[in-house]
Amino acid sequence: MFVDTVKLTVRAGKGGNGIIAWRREKFIPKGGPAGGDGGNGASVSLKASAQFYSLENFRNHRIIKADDGQQGGQSNRKGRNGKDLTLYVPLGTIVKDAQTEAILFDFTEASQEYKVSQGGRGGKGNTHFKSSTHQAPYQFTEGTAGEIKEITLELKLIADVGLVGMPNAGKSTLISTVTHLPVKIAPYPFTTLRPNLGLLAYKDHARILLADIPGIIRDAHNDRGLGLSFLKHIERTSVLLFLIDISGWEGRDPWEDFLLLRHELQAYDETLLQKPFLVVLNKIDVEGAEEHAETFRKAYPFDPATLFVISAQSGEGLKPLVHAMAELVMENKTAALPL
Ligand code: GDP
Ligand code: MG
Repeated sequence: MFVDTVKLTVRAGKGGNGIIAWRREKFIPKGGPAGGDGGNGASVSLKASAQFYSLENFRNHRIIKADDGQQGGQSNRKGRNGKDLTLYVPLGTIVKDAQTEAILFDFTEASQEYKVSQGGRGGKGNTHFKSSTHQAPYQFTEGTAGEIKEITLELKLIADVGLVGMPNAGKSTLISTVTHLPVKIAPYPFTTLRPNLGLLAYKDHARILLADIPGIIRDAHNDRGLGLSFLKHIERTSVLLFLIDISGWEGRDPWEDFLLLRHELQAYDETLLQKPFLVVLNKIDVEGAEEHAETFRKAYPFDPATLFVISAQSGEGLKPLVHAMAELVMENKTAALPL
């Protein structure tokens, strides 16, 4: 689970003032009060939308300010109301009070709406203060202030695909290449949320989040180094992608690496190995890699359709991999939060 946060100051609009004014009709020598009311200040609400998947839009707008109401007019004209502001947030966004950290709202369903700051009320014009004993009131009220709130928005992201690999297997490289692929398989561009997160759009609306998390290490299940937090992470992903360095660099044995990765997962939680997975042999561009790949293929006991050979660096073999990955995620999407 990745948490993205932004802090915002949200100012609702002030209500417009009521005014003092008098009727000025030609044949009425002593016109009565005619001061209009002020308009209401605009409120600011947040609304959940499945069309949005990150808080990026808020990064450049740390202060949100809604319109003030206008002051009242002559002839009892009411001032214009400020136009209420609705800001869209992704599903899974939690709204917190920035100071106390109390949870104010939790967006779990599309179209849910939460009013963050209430606009001020318009003041009353002097017409309101007319009475039988008080025919010409010199009285009005000011509009009230709009609410100002300091909030944080917190978005929890569950990766759909967890990259499992030894250090230097090429996880970061894969994420970065995949998120910059020229878009041929989907009408949306790939976006990079964070250096270690990649979001790819697939077939119009499905969004798939890949996570490149710090490398798994020997004895990860005993919580050495970053191992355990990594493993916790992948518990909720729907698909695993084993990324294997097939170059044989520094005398590494790719098959041993694969077994070790599986062993680490199993030792932590056996059910992890029941997750749907793909195995990806990376760095096929390196001299001698093809031979290692051949040996790996022969040893591979699973469906050959789950085995891919790529160069994360050159992009070779990436398209079929991305397709297979996206399809597998669509079939197995278990994450509670639609992205
Ligand atoms: P990570 O630790 O799994 O994130 O691995 P990195 O993505 O940081 O890659 C480790 C090293 O392998 C870097 O020097 C990369 O440039 C290199 N590398 C990654 N993918 C490839 C590849 O497909 N071919 C080659 N030749 N080098 C690669
Ligand atoms: Mg890395």
